[in-house]
Amino acid sequence: MVSAQYVIIGAGFAGAATAYHLTRRGVRDIVILEQEGMAGIHSSGRNASMVRQVVPEPAIMQLAKEGAEFLRNVPPDWPVAVSFERNGSLLLGSGEGWEKLCRDAEMGREGGIEAEVWSPAKARERVSILKNATFDGAIWCPTDGVVDVHALLSGYLRMAGSLGAQVHYGSLVRGFEVKGNRIAGVVTEKGFLEAGTVINAAGPWGRAIGALAGAVDVPLRPCRRHLFFTAPLPWVDRKWPFVWHTSHDMYFRPEAGGLLLCPCDQDEMPPGIPPTDVAVLELLADKIRHFFPEFGDVAIKSSLAGLRTLVPDGRFVIGWDPNVKGFFWVAGLGGHGVTTSSPVGALAASLILGERSGAGEFSPARFVV
Ligand SMILES: Cc1cc2nc3c(=O)[nH]c(=O)nc-3n(C[C@H](O)[C@H](O)[C@H](O)COP(=O)(O)OP(=O)(O)OC[C@H]3O[C@@H](n4cnc5c(N)ncnc54)[C@H](O)[C@@H]3O)c2cc1C
Repeated sequence: MVSAQYVIIGAGFAGAATAYHLTRRGVRDIVILEQEGMAGIHSSGRNASMVRQVVPEPAIMQLAKEGAEFLRNVPPDWPVAVSFERNGSLLLGSGEGWEKLCRDAEMGREGGIEAEVWSPAKARERVSILKNATFDGAIWCPTDGVVDVHALLSGYLRMAGSLGAQVHYGSLVRGFEVKGNRIAGVVTEKGFLEAGTVINAAGPWGRAIGALAGAVDVPLRPCRRHLFFTAPLPWVDRKWPFVWHTSHDMYFRPEAGGLLLCPCDQDEMPPGIPPTDVAVLELLADKIRHFFPEFGDVAIKSSLAGLRTLVPDGRFVIGWDPNVKGFFWVAGLGGHGVTTSSPVGALAASLILGERSGAGEFSPARFVV
């Protein structure tokens, strides 16, 4: 293969879902270039797998709603079973944060998301471990849940593959050929690939890939976040929803008979697999002591860290580059890339194929200085 109409860089959720939606629209000439030997090595395989619809950014809330609907009802022709544990979510808030959370939930309800206001007593009835937790109220979202991310990612890639897309693993993109301001090809470790359109779905590497092409400088910041896992615990109910204290930035959910816990740390890091830091375990212990004292000295069995790639305004970056013709961005999916994967891929595909013009608030043109 020495040429492709559409070359996608990255086989994470951004690239895989874009390929899937392009192929569903009849496009066949797609090559996905992935530097690793398999998909899901980076953010798309190192996350909490939670599907949360009530989020602070209205434009993302709409995509999250559509994404959750897709995940609850994956198409019948999907090549792998994708489990979706519909245990719901319980979002907790305190003080001004609680008022803001109530406004977000109201906005969600107006957009069609099921989101009920619960008293602390009702929340404690649902999740007994919240007995002594500190919060003023909770938002109950019964249609949230937890999805099998590996099956989902593999499903996008296998569906796209069955319709003609090719994935080239072990293909590190090193540069581009740009002729008269238009993308002409991609230089990989393995050689040159002529390309009509290049789609930058490189996650934490998105800014560096943009720079190689001479694209607009999108201030993408990869930020590390840790997840901690306990051994099975007798008092954990597998049917608990995921619980997110939005005012004190910590969440937990049942996982393999124990708990997955996250203190919502956010430290900027270079792209790659970030090292874990014992100081973040101390942050977690501190948050547990203050906000979830009922957990006591819960023992941590293992941990991992991944990167959430953010831009300062917290929105996604989806659309044509304003500087280089034929260069398209699907990046900055932050902490929502699993949940929103299908509508993000659908939006990207419809913009790439000219079915709609302008990505509005997601456009990379907002970074032109
Ligand atoms: C701890 C944590 C918890 C999270 N929890 C959730 C959650 O509960 N729910 C949710 O919706 N989202 C969650 N997220 C966010 C979600 O994981 C990301 O938004 C999503 O995975 C981003 O996908 P991506 O395709 O943009 O990036 P990635 O998955 O990182 O994919 C980018 C790919 O590009 C490849 N690549 C990069 N450069 C090159 C190159 N030069 N040549 C070839 N290939 C290249 C990389 O190898 C990589 O595979 C979480 C993230 C973290 C870190």
